[in-house]
Amino acid sequence: MERSALESDIQFLPGVGPKRAELLRKELGINTFGDLIRLYPFRYIDRSSIVPIREIRPDMAYIQVKARVLARELYGSAGVIAADNIYGQNQDVSGNGAPAATGSGADIRFNLVRRMRVVVEDATGRLELVFFKGIKWMYGKLEPGKEFIFFGKPTVFNGLVNIVHPEVDNAPDRQSTRSGNARQAPAGGVRNTVQQTDALTMTGVYPSTERLKNGGITGKAMCRMQEHALNACLPDIEETLPVWFLKQQGLVPLPFALKNIHFPKDQQSLERARYRLKFEELFFLQLSLLKQKYIHSRDEHGIQMPKVGEAFNRCYEALPFPLTGAQKRVITEIRNDMKSGHQMNRLLQGDVGSGKTMVAVLTALIAIGNGYQACIMAPTEVLAQQHFKNISKYLEPTGVRVALLTGSSRTAERREIHAGLEDGNIGIIVGTHALIEDDVLFRNLGLAIVDEQHRFGVEQRAKLWRKSACGMPPHILVMTATPIPRTLAMTLYGDLDVSVIDELPPGRKPVQTIHASENRRPALFKFMRDQIALGRQIFVVYPLIFESEKMDYKNLENGYEQIAKAFPFPPYRTAIVHGKQSNEEKKFNMDAFAAGRANILVATSVIEVGVDVPNASVMVIESAERFGLSQLHQLRGRVGRGSEKSYCVLMTGQKLSKESRHRIQLMCSTENGFELAEEDMKMRGPGDLEGTQQSGLPISLNIASLAKDGLILNVARSCAEAILEEDPTLSLDKNLLLMQELKKDKYNIKDYSKIS
Ligand code: ADP
Ligand code: MG
Repeated sequence: MERSALESDIQFLPGVGPKRAELLRKELGINTFGDLIRLYPFRYIDRSSIVPIREIRPDMAYIQVKARVLARELYGSAGVIAADNIYGQNQDVSGNGAPAATGSGADIRFNLVRRMRVVVEDATGRLELVFFKGIKWMYGKLEPGKEFIFFGKPTVFNGLVNIVHPEVDNAPDRQSTRSGNARQAPAGGVRNTVQQTDALTMTGVYPSTERLKNGGITGKAMCRMQEHALNACLPDIEETLPVWFLKQQGLVPLPFALKNIHFPKDQQSLERARYRLKFEELFFLQLSLLKQKYIHSRDEHGIQMPKVGEAFNRCYEALPFPLTGAQKRVITEIRNDMKSGHQMNRLLQGDVGSGKTMVAVLTALIAIGNGYQACIMAPTEVLAQQHFKNISKYLEPTGVRVALLTGSSRTAERREIHAGLEDGNIGIIVGTHALIEDDVLFRNLGLAIVDEQHRFGVEQRAKLWRKSACGMPPHILVMTATPIPRTLAMTLYGDLDVSVIDELPPGRKPVQTIHASENRRPALFKFMRDQIALGRQIFVVYPLIFESEKMDYKNLENGYEQIAKAFPFPPYRTAIVHGKQSNEEKKFNMDAFAAGRANILVATSVIEVGVDVPNASVMVIESAERFGLSQLHQLRGRVGRGSEKSYCVLMTGQKLSKESRHRIQLMCSTENGFELAEEDMKMRGPGDLEGTQQSGLPISLNIASLAKDGLILNVARSCAEAILEEDPTLSLDKNLLLMQELKKDKYNIKDYSKIS
């Protein structure tokens, strides 16, 4: 059987060869022609507009200049080696015997040349171009008097605007105009081959790396490769969406989309191509997630819990405050799931302090009321302890027995708890990963609540799922304070239902957020002393990022010493908590702070989730520019829980990138977690929401952006829903293509239904 061009090894593409193929493989994961044409430009350069030199500003993005070469100057390490004078004649200015430059550069010892400066001119002014590499060739090409199109990004050096390493094209001859209407549309609409010609006014810019560029795969080379690959593949490209569906959704065919994403015929074709490709990506993502959900909900019966129960009512009546509207709504949603006879798989999102614990307790009590047990799992020991403390308080009026099981539970205690869980004496168990160890057995686990779900690994959640003894899976409630934008939640958890607590309990005081840089540290320390004098407590948090762990611990230690010096004992007491301590040490220090024995808690971001110390009213975040917005927001949520006015101080270095400054400013101006999460996602991509080590998405998106393409995602999702509604197994003839596409490896998503 003849193989499709799509599958041809990339090394056989003209201009590639084994060496570049290796590069493409390593740097971009491209193995075949087909892989290459699915590498899309991430932006386009308008090649139709030429900027007059006089109008160039250093803050412009990529621009195009049409100019004549005036002079070239070659510099070695000791100064000028050779230069054209402004009239185009050559001059030996080196005075050290180096040969004068000539048009071809034949006698120049290029191995001594470190840099070339080229002055070009158009009718409006002069511009300097700088080259560090490939100088010999460029020197030969850029003969004085000749005109070229230069393309690059203007920068400022020593107060002058220049362009470093511009791309150089021959200026088009006078006849061929660059305006759009000069282009001939071939009869019959779509052309069958693509050609990169002057007539195309938009050029794609592809993802690249330093290694690719050094290996000769420049932007221009990439465009040429795409042209070759497309021409080879076009006859073999097969549609992935059924024709009826293309028609229904007004989508352009795949070949058209691929052609125009690389070499747009015009703006409109580009838009249609882009829409089609984004849609396709999001649609299949949703389709694969939802298909599992459909099959799952059809196969998996859930434990029916028809009652609310007495324990629930007793707890509810004894609550020290009325539930917020959002809490009530969410509890109703959960309640409906639990009585439906299907397994609940629900994600509960709520900003820090929105009152998720209360919802968890009431949910657990529904399970109790129907004769089942519930477990509540937290990501850290400290959090589990805190949950246990709070939950015990809420449960007092109910008489339900609750226990705590963590890694540091003693053997005797552990044995007792195991027994209590097996005979059903313990109704609710709170704990850490210790809960999912094999020797923990339940009499009849009916509900598992997982707090801060993203810190649990996949297998760990799967284990939890298997703990049910009655043959039916427990209901699952996943709680997260990371305010994931709805579009992202839908994609990350395509098979989970999502509930949102979008309202904070009344009376919460806003946290005043302040940005300060290092030179303000004396003022910060004074402010801290003043706050301590008022009886307040203070968090000081240092970043701890996996990749730079060693440095981070060094910074933490230095910071701790600095604080210990500035806040000496007596009268001040400072505690420190970090990941290298034993659980006992951590607990000892946390407790000291929580009980008010320490004024300051120095910590790494381990305190990010959950710790509740109402008297702590100041949060100082060191190197704040290194945190993502969502993380900063989480940290800030640790204060503002008491009755006192609270502050969050973001300490940063003196110099900040534009992006960092923007983020810090945003933090100072809003306390809306969702707004921050959206912004975070726009700037850092969805991956970072899940922490530095997790990619987040079950499959990687090539062209669609969850932050920007929410509307397309919504359409894609309803289409997927409608199709599955009619044909849950995709076995109808008209859906054959869809089924085939879903069988591809990339949609082989981990089975979420068995996980949460
Ligand atoms: P989360 O876990 O969502 O960050 P918590 O459940 O820890 O938030 O609740 C934060 C604080 O708000 C707790 O001190 C809790 O007692 C209080 N709280 C919860 N619900 C309400 C409510 N409806 N009205 C007033 N206070 C509430
Ligand atoms: Mg909480």
